[in-house]
Parts: sequence; structure tokens; C-alpha cells
Amino acid sequence: PARIDAAPPGCSCRTNHPAGAPMPGNLSFAELQDAVASGEIDTVLVAGIDMQGRLMGKRFHAQHFVDRAWEETHACNYLLATDLEMFTVPGYAAASWTRGYGDYVLKPDLATLRRTPWLEGTALVLCDILDHHTHREVPHSPRAMLKAQVARLEAMGYRAMMATELEFYLFEKSYQALQADGYRQMATFSAYNEDYHIFQTTKEEDVMRAIRNGLAGAGVPVENTKGEADAGQGEINIRYDEALETADTHVLVKNACKEIAWAKGRGLTFLAKWSHSHGGSSSHVHQSLWTLEGKPAFFDSSAPHGMSALMRSWMAGQLAHAADVTYFLAPYVNSYKRFQAGTFAPTRICWSVDNRTAGFRLCGEDSHAVRVECRIGGSDLNPYLAAAALIAAGIDGIERGLALEDAFTGDAYEAEVPRIPATLRDAADRLEGSGLLRAAFGDAVVDHYVRAARWEVEEYNRVVTDWEIARGFERA
Ligand code: ADP
Repeated sequence: PARIDAAPPGCSCRTNHPAGAPMPGNLSFAELQDAVASGEIDTVLVAGIDMQGRLMGKRFHAQHFVDRAWEETHACNYLLATDLEMFTVPGYAAASWTRGYGDYVLKPDLATLRRTPWLEGTALVLCDILDHHTHREVPHSPRAMLKAQVARLEAMGYRAMMATELEFYLFEKSYQALQADGYRQMATFSAYNEDYHIFQTTKEEDVMRAIRNGLAGAGVPVENTKGEADAGQGEINIRYDEALETADTHVLVKNACKEIAWAKGRGLTFLAKWSHSHGGSSSHVHQSLWTLEGKPAFFDSSAPHGMSALMRSWMAGQLAHAADVTYFLAPYVNSYKRFQAGTFAPTRICWSVDNRTAGFRLCGEDSHAVRVECRIGGSDLNPYLAAAALIAAGIDGIERGLALEDAFTGDAYEAEVPRIPATLRDAADRLEGSGLLRAAFGDAVVDHYVRAARWEVEEYNRVVTDWEIARGFERA
């Protein structure tokens, strides 16, 4: 095949990170063509991102990808209208049996091309999801939703830099064995709290080292992995980047962690709360705005804590709309089990200076790295939706010049301030009534996600759980 020397449209290597050069695992299209010609790469994973933040797509023979499929491929439009079980959920306007479940276009974004060294001979590309007929982005596609908010911010002269820390639990047994056991007697990989614990995490190195090195080889700027505050709990940190790159990386990291754990015969979960007697898993979102020229716009050396007026308005917007955006930070019934007092997961909407009991925490005070960490999100969040909603809230704070309340001090679990919605039903009500999100995303998009939230509640209400049986079988 002819070598494409001029990169196809949309193909740019990531060179704009303020902290450094592109990572070696990233591939230009020409590099992929060479690797296919030499036989080094024979498979290309082509994946869009669904409402749950999962990679959904096809495995292409690499030759066909570089010849033809790099332009587009197709997938059933139910991919943006299913639940975690891939059920054909009723009640969506955009996709249904009545509308015949047609196709969407998966359009590879060649700027996301990379090696995936933990899968032999394989590269991966993420896709935008387009309408089959108009070739415009599907409005409720998570990646499209984030791109739209990023574009609004860019029109204001800013870029959102974000990091989404990811916590998870590692189990002794494989996914297959855990499922066969009915998810009972689930032994975590270590037996006691492993927060920052080097010896404990040494036992997990078989998996964690493969994850760090695999991701680094895929062009992901891994900062570290560490033990977290419970038996078997870990965290992976990736260097902050622009919101879209951070979201792309987040979904790749989750997929890689599961694939690598699976290959090593272990189970690994990003459920927000896999057991009521263990700590929850979060995905805290660190955020700062930078000018288009690459200057940190949240820093003002002459202001208290080094927080610029822009940063104060951004945080005020996020505090004002925290309950409205909670659905996008906590999308399942299970997500709300994480919000327990005294667990490091927040329950209250307030901000603090480096105080982990509040929903929003100021980090890096009085430095160029001054930023806000939103602590509401669980490790089950969809990073595109979370970032899009947080940006919409922050923009509103800037546009309206909202004033920031005083920082909270003390134990926020006991604070007399608004609560984070305590259930998915409450969060869905807030989402449905959110003028902010309706203005930012459009009514059809908000209604689509309200339906997703309501469906989860309906399913939960329908199913009899083992807790009810154990509690009432004999005693009721
Ligand atoms: P640690 O808690 O291990 O010391 P840091 O507090 O330095 O780590 O960083 C936590 C996360 O915040 C990291 O993923 C990092 O990439 C990210 N981060 C650092 N600076 C910024 C910034 N200016 N904007 C957004 N995220 C940032």
C-alpha cells in the first residue's frame, strides 16, 4: 500500500503537553504503516466510548485498517443506549426497537493511535461516534459532550488541565473464579490496609509493574501506583493533561488494568463500593485552567492561597452546581454507597484548603500548580461525562462572576452545609431539573442521561437482593 506521508486529517501527535514531549508509545499513522509492513503490528483495536466509559468496537486486521478502515467503521447505535449488561433499555428517544436500532459511524481519531504492548502485535485507536446519515457527532456521545465543553472553554481563552486519579481493588482469584463463586468469599490480594505500604504492594508487583510498564509503552504518562487505604486497594496516577487527553487515557487505563489483571489470573474492580465493610474507590478530579499560551491561569501570587479570581469563580460555579453534576460523578445505585461519613469519601458540598473531608479540596496552594480536586467522583465514573459536567459548572461560575464562600475548616462530615445527593434517585432529579446542564448539553442529551439514571433505579427496585433475603427470610 502507498505510504501516507501527509498525515490523514485529524492526525496530530500529542506534542502540546506543557510538561514534556509526546510519549514513545504514541504512533503516527505513518509509523503504524511501517509497523504493519514489518509485521510488528498485526491487529488494530478500533473503539468508541460508551455511556459507561467502556471501550466498545472491533479488532481489525492491521492491513485492512491502514488500507481502508482508518477512515471509518460502523456499529449498532444501541451502544449509546444500553446498560452495563448490554440490555436494550426501553425509553430512549435516540435508539429503540421502534427506530430499528440502526448504525452509528465509528470515526477513528488518529491522534489517539498507540501501541498496547500488553496485547501482542496490537495497536489501538479511539473513535468519535457520528450519525450514520449526517456524519455529525452524536450529541449524547460522551466524547462529543466533552469536546463541546472544551471548545466553549477554548473560546474563552482557556484549556482545562485535569488528572483523574483511579482507585481499584485487586483480588486473589480470577474474574472467572469470582463469578463462579457468585462474588462471595472474595479474598482481596492483601490482608490489611496497604496505604502507601511498600511491602504489601511488593506482593502485587506481578500485576502492578506490568500495568505501569504496559501503559508507559502505550504512551501513557504514568506517575505512580500506590497502595490505598484498605486491604487489596490500589491507586494509579497519570500525569495531568488536557481534559480530552485525560479522559482518553482514563478509559484506556481502566481497560488495561482489567486486561492485565485478567492475563495474570486476577480479578480487579473499579466498582465504587464492592463491600460495605471496605472503603470505597474514588476517582478524584484535579483541575486547573491554563491560558492558550500555556500559562497557569489559576495562580495569582498576590492573592490568598495563590488563587486567582478566575479560580475562585470556577470553584464557586462547581460548588453551586455540585448536586446537579453529581449523577455524572456517581452514575449507579452502588456509587452512592460510597458516600459515608468518616471514610474519606465526601458527603458535603463545601471546599477546604487541603482537608480531605470536603467535597472540593484546594491543592498546591501558593504555587503554579494550584488546583481544585473534586472528591465526589467514584472510580465508576465516565471521565468524559464527569469532565464535561465539571467544565460546564466552572464556566457558569466564570460567566456569572460567582463569589466563592469562605473555605470550610474542621470535619466537613458534621458541617451545616448542603449534602451531596444521597441516592441515585435524588441525583437523577437534580440532573432532570438542572437549567445549567440543559443549557450546556441541550435538553435531548440531559433527557437521555436522566433515562439512563432512572433505568438503573428501576432495575434496582425490581431485583430482590441477597441482603433482603438474609435480613428477612427467617425474621420477617
Ligand atoms: P501526590 O498526591 O502523589 O503528591 P500530586 O498532589 O502532586 O500527587 O498530584 C495529584 C494529581 O494531580 C496528579 O495526577 C497530578 O498529575 C495532578 N496535577 C498536578 N498538577 C496539576 C495541575 N496544575 N492541574 C491539574 N492536575 C494537576
